Amino acid sequence: MSPDKCKVHDRLAAEAHAVLSKLHEITARQLAVFEAGDRPKFIQYDEELELTVGEKERVIGALRQHDEEHGCQLEPL
Ligand SMILES: [Zn+2]
Repeated sequence: MSPDKCKVHDRLAAEAHAVLSKLHEITARQLAVFEAGDRPKFIQYDEELELTVGEKERVIGALRQHDEEHGCQLEPL
């Protein structure tokens, strides 16, 4: 296997991309309801954001651990 063609890395990187996009999206929604003064939705997005941050920690942690152990990541993140 060529070192820059690792399927595991690609899968984890795609997951990292997806979870970061999700964080970005929820943050933008929370900011909008914060500015609109919609407290129930603000709290709802806050809970979603906390769960997504947990997911992000897990996915980024797995990606970094894989890259360190496998040494397949040639380009800096
Ligand atoms: Zn790898």
